[in-house]
Amino acid sequence: MFARLGRLWRRARRQRWMSVAVENLATGARGVDVLPIDDLIRHEFGEGCPCGPKVELHHDQDGADVWIHVHASLDGREVREHAKAHA
Ligand SMILES: [Zn+2]
Repeated sequence: MFARLGRLWRRARRQRWMSVAVENLATGARGVDVLPIDDLIRHEFGEGCPCGPKVELHHDQDGADVWIHVHASLDGREVREHAKAHA
């Protein structure tokens, strides 16, 4: 089990992205932010982030709305990762 966790963790580090579950306690709205790690700017949760995240609405297993905010990295790592995946 620990070996498997270690592999997942290494993969996450190589990808340099993390996803964080966020819940707005005032409204009960749930969301997930997908953020680049160690980017050139500090990202803020939600769609108000300066990077202009892509917003997608998903439905949880219990039918609840979950907003996914996919942030854009300012160092352009998506482009490199895409190129690598298709090399
Ligand atoms: Zn952002």
